[in-house]
Amino acid sequence: MVQITTNMGKTHTSHPEHELELKNYRKPYTCDGCKGHGFGKRYRCEQCDYDLHEDCMFTTPTTSHKFFRNSTFKFYEQPPRKCNKQYCDDCKRYCDACGKHVKGFVYHCPKTLKDLHPCCRNLKNELEIDGIKFRLRETVSKCSWCNQTKIKDSLSKIKGWSYVSECDTYNFHVYCAMEMVVEGWKDGTANDHDCLALENLDLRSIQSHLNRNRGRGNKYLRIVKIFLKTIISILIGDPTNTLASVLVDLLV
Ligand SMILES: [Zn+2]
Ligand SMILES: [Zn+2]
Ligand SMILES: [Zn+2]
Ligand SMILES: [Zn+2]
Ligand SMILES: [Zn+2]
Repeated sequence: MVQITTNMGKTHTSHPEHELELKNYRKPYTCDGCKGHGFGKRYRCEQCDYDLHEDCMFTTPTTSHKFFRNSTFKFYEQPPRKCNKQYCDDCKRYCDACGKHVKGFVYHCPKTLKDLHPCCRNLKNELEIDGIKFRLRETVSKCSWCNQTKIKDSLSKIKGWSYVSECDTYNFHVYCAMEMVVEGWKDGTANDHDCLALENLDLRSIQSHLNRNRGRGNKYLRIVKIFLKTIISILIGDPTNTLASVLVDLLV
């Protein structure tokens, strides 16, 4: 049953029994709305261990994104389905931005069938880092991270978004930035209640990319790091950059 959410006070229709409080822990969480990763600020029910990204807490009934000018997105707590079978590949939906499987809260356009995670909706059409302009594109050329055009998730036919610099030097799948978070995020990352256990972050794949590209010089490495901080912060709903900075600053 598809339900459109409205926010009343600080409860959310996905968790009507208790109010959700704004908390800020230096600790990762899984958002109970979109099922994605989160860090830092979250709306939380302590009693039920229920967390929502800020973007999942304050959803709007409809929204748009500059990238899909012909789409009007509606909010759904569960991705809309064509049939009632419990497991059905035809009904699986993928986010057109990050390419990841949609498992919960989603903005979906019934006309163009595009899907966006609530956090992915915040990815800007254009970014400027150190004077270098990046534009959001549907992926058409090789990502400098994974060296592929197609994103790795073979089940989805989604091309996903890439940020490409005007000078063509930088070309990154949004999917690959998200994968870095997933990889770095091994279980047990947060042992203490309040503190991120840095030694448990797995940074090997990020570090090896930087090592492979060391020949491109310090400017390249600096831009890549700032770019990753910016994108990762958006994808995990952490506008203060806390985790992204931790992830990226550990790199040498
Ligand atoms: Zn969420
Ligand atoms: Zn509760
Ligand atoms: Zn189906
Ligand atoms: Zn997404
Ligand atoms: Zn890639």
